[in-house]
Amino acid sequence: MTATDVPPIHLYDTRRRGVFAFEPLEAGKVGIYTCGPTVYGPQHLGNMRSQLVPDVLRRVLQAVGYQVTYVTNITDVGHLVSDADEGDDKIEAAAAREGATVEEITGRWTDQWATDRARLGCLPPDVLPRAAGHIPEQIDMVRTLEAQGRTYVIDDGVYFDVSTFDRYADFAGLSLDDLEATGRIEHIADKRHPADFALWKLSPPGVRRLQEWDSPWGRGFPGWHIECSAMATKYLGERFDIHTGGVDHIRVHHTNEVAQSECALDLSPWVSFWVHTEFLDLAGEKMSKSKGHVLLVDTLVERGLDPLAFRYFTLQAHYRQQQAFTLDAVAAADTALRRLLHHAVVARDAVGLAPGPTEAGGAAEVGDGATSETSVRSRELAVEFWTAMHDDLNTPRAMSVVSTVARDPELSPSQRWALLADFDQVLGFGFATASDPTSAGDVSDDPVIAARLEERQAAKAAKDFATADAIRDELAAEGIEIIDTPEGPKARRR
Ligand code: AMP
Ligand code: ZN
Repeated sequence: MTATDVPPIHLYDTRRRGVFAFEPLEAGKVGIYTCGPTVYGPQHLGNMRSQLVPDVLRRVLQAVGYQVTYVTNITDVGHLVSDADEGDDKIEAAAAREGATVEEITGRWTDQWATDRARLGCLPPDVLPRAAGHIPEQIDMVRTLEAQGRTYVIDDGVYFDVSTFDRYADFAGLSLDDLEATGRIEHIADKRHPADFALWKLSPPGVRRLQEWDSPWGRGFPGWHIECSAMATKYLGERFDIHTGGVDHIRVHHTNEVAQSECALDLSPWVSFWVHTEFLDLAGEKMSKSKGHVLLVDTLVERGLDPLAFRYFTLQAHYRQQQAFTLDAVAAADTALRRLLHHAVVARDAVGLAPGPTEAGGAAEVGDGATSETSVRSRELAVEFWTAMHDDLNTPRAMSVVSTVARDPELSPSQRWALLADFDQVLGFGFATASDPTSAGDVSDDPVIAARLEERQAAKAAKDFATADAIRDELAAEGIEIIDTPEGPKARRR
């Protein structure tokens, strides 16, 4: 009953526009690079979806035994207000606006991102390189491209000449004219083609920037795209297995990463699988007043929601589908997560296991101990779960298996616990150390509430669901939630 007894992992690769069986470049090892945050302001819940998806992918790979090296970067220089090499550097602009130093700005927002990632159950990256800490590596790559005759220098900086790379538009499945027509790639005077992009930006004469370095072309700073090529190569090797990011990066940022990397390194393909996360559509909740209209992990916490409910919510949709964000949907996920934790803790405690020191340790011990008790039913459910995960991360299907496991009457507590502990390698809900959320804030014994619960049970027994629902709604209006457990309904104050 493991992730290795099912069909191999298949993933959609943006470059080849299809689903393919995953094969690592080196047996047993996988390198993943994820484009990280530009640390000039808060990372919202949409950004965090693009962190959660590769975390799930990484965990699925680890569950089949791959040794994964997970690299994500911090963009602390070079990302201009427009992706098309125009406007101010986002971080310099934020520092000027807020009267803060660059270090204060980048430190503050790197911390927010790292804390929120952890709160969402994402494993820490193995390597977290900063763009500003890798200037020589970026200059080296630009020099290689220059030596190949693929660059030109104008007043504004050193540019990559896309006409020197035949396959430039292939990655996004577009033609050069399409790219020009998107309007996202705007014109900088003297650029030979609108799609040509900056490798090194020169500080204008007489202007001292907060972040600038000497280079063979003059003082300035790296273009945004070159950082990912240089840092991925440094930490994962010239070719690597998986590169992830949001779908908005396909047209410009990743197209440019591919062009400069495949040219400088003289190889193709640079990356075996490109995994892109569709957008979280935040439009429905744009009006959130907290934190200047930005929906954050903090916004969820302020509403009494567990950040892991957002992880649960994210898993309910396929990563290649847009997902509409609403606070109501995350609140529903929060309730579902609490029920799931309750079932997991009841099963775990019935098996008589003290919470383990770590998620993974707990899961392994329990899985081993429970194999003798594995039934046909538990095997079937494990196969369904892992088959779904291996099928291009079909998390909605996997989550429906999780719901079944939580309640299936055919499973003994130890079988239920063995399955949930096994699945938690990917789910990341921390079943091994969780406490039962239905007992926190438990007000079931309050005489007034107990009477209401009894009334509701009686209404349900009489099939008077309107009354039963009305009681649930009345309690909800008082901030009390009813959780139906195998031991009967419980009431919990949010
Ligand atoms: P940025 O800090 O703007 O460079 O974005 C960080 C990451 O978040 C990138 O991979 C983007 O593609 C991704 N991203 C931005 N907005 C969303 C969204 N609404 N849904 C999902 N991913 C997003
Ligand atoms: Zn990148």
